[in-house]
Amino acid sequence: MSDDDAPVLAAQGLEVRYGDARAVFGVDLEVAQGQVLAVLGPNGAGKTSLAGAITGRVRPAAGRVHISGRDVTGRSASQISRLGVAYVPEERAIFPHLSVNDNLRVLLRYAVPRAERAVTLDKAFELFPVLAERRRQQAGTLSGGEQQMLSLARVLAAPPLLLVADEMSLGLAPRLVDLVFESLARARDEGVTILLIEQYVERALALAGDAVILRRGRVSWRGPASEAHGELAAGYLGAEV
Ligand code: ATP
Repeated sequence: MSDDDAPVLAAQGLEVRYGDARAVFGVDLEVAQGQVLAVLGPNGAGKTSLAGAITGRVRPAAGRVHISGRDVTGRSASQISRLGVAYVPEERAIFPHLSVNDNLRVLLRYAVPRAERAVTLDKAFELFPVLAERRRQQAGTLSGGEQQMLSLARVLAAPPLLLVADEMSLGLAPRLVDLVFESLARARDEGVTILLIEQYVERALALAGDAVILRRGRVSWRGPASEAHGELAAGYLGAEV
């Protein structure tokens, strides 16, 4: 059952295990419609595992996930994406042998009703002029940053209900990092709910309303993003040991 008043994302007691190792445990989260929740924490804290459990990439060992009040625990990634949950960067979102233009057309075919596809394609090129310049180029020959733009363009041209953004800026040149954050801010302003996993802590906190800090698979702090700075003092960026 879906429920209009329910938060877009709610997770209770989520746990992820790899064999005997617990990567995430006892995590509770809620993100209301149109809100941005930053998920911060050192390398290995369990951020990607948490995102995987929410988006159906990893089967949770315990706990529940609800999307707009609907229990989706244990559903596959494609079933969850059909409810409007987008995960980026999505490894398989790009078809390397197709042109940029055809990539967008194929991807939008699943996300947008036929009558709106042309307008949506124009919007993608307007958001990312670099892709418009390269619309006939094979996607596999784009730079890593440009490929990232392509997967982002698809998502932002047809805004999802929930965007799970997992280290989108990782490895990008500064100009593209700016573009990623501008695009995320635009998505937020258009009402997209975002779960934001980011290494650029300050920029993530500037975008988010609330934040949680994960350490060793557990939530060690949660609160307004504006109050997270104090919690993120020395040692935060190191790896978990
Ligand atoms: P990073 O910021 O470095 O990406 P993270 O916070 O996203 O880290 P995860 O990638 O979720 O953390 O990893 C959490 C723990 O789970 C780590 O100890 C990691 O080695 C382990 N882990 C992650 N994926 C697997 C897997 N497929 N098999 C076994 N262990 C895994």
